[in-house]
Amino acid sequence: MANHLTSIRYLLTDVDDTLTTDGQLLPETLSALYRLNDAGIEVIPVTGACAGWCDQMIRLWPVPAVIGENGAFYFERDRTGKVEYHSWDTPEVRFASQQRLLSIAEDAMARVPALRLAKDQSYRLSDVALDHGQDVHGISAVDIDRTLATFHKAGANARASSIHINAWFGDYSKQAMTHRLLQYKYDLNELSIQRHVAFVGDSPNDESLFAYLTHTFGVANIGRWLDRMTHHPRYLLAQSGGVGFNELATLLLQAQRLAN
Ligand SMILES: [Mg+2]
Repeated sequence: MANHLTSIRYLLTDVDDTLTTDGQLLPETLSALYRLNDAGIEVIPVTGACAGWCDQMIRLWPVPAVIGENGAFYFERDRTGKVEYHSWDTPEVRFASQQRLLSIAEDAMARVPALRLAKDQSYRLSDVALDHGQDVHGISAVDIDRTLATFHKAGANARASSIHINAWFGDYSKQAMTHRLLQYKYDLNELSIQRHVAFVGDSPNDESLFAYLTHTFGVANIGRWLDRMTHHPRYLLAQSGGVGFNELATLLLQAQRLAN
């Protein structure tokens, strides 16, 4: 596989259960982020995580940009450490959409009472997140589907990650904001994107990037979701979560050494 990876310059990565292992960022995974950065491979988290958490990532981790809330925004940091926020929608549109989503979420929680608003809801700029697997347990796949249907019937987008159900209005997605970031920040055309960019993820909310990119990877824990997904990663890693991410980092760094 290494020969196919010599051209990779950007590694997009999901965060929950892709970078994290049982909810934690392991030392070897953090170390992998630094090893990739030191080798000139830019790592860009692409996550459903809230704006508050993304602000922490962009300031604390060796990454030049973060796409958050499933594509609602990207944050970038320049070489002096200054952070800029770029949002898909205007603040007014964002606020109005989020208020409507909170109202639909009330309906969803009336239908599936065990669901809860994610504890990080207050730190979200655009979307609404319901917890089905973070601090809440025992929500069935049927109840997840029922909740997705509640949002879809109200005209909202909704996707399940391994821990949350995220709902949003508008035409952004992880894929759409990734495309915007790669064009605006890095001036990459479509051919360059397919050649130089890889993505790794673990769940159905990563599908838009599995469908879009040529070089795609799934950490091993994606196995439980594969029969519910239309677009699969091209390669499956042997290890789960952040250990699988570390496995991929080693493959990319080996490929880079082969090329040089
Ligand atoms: Mg995930």
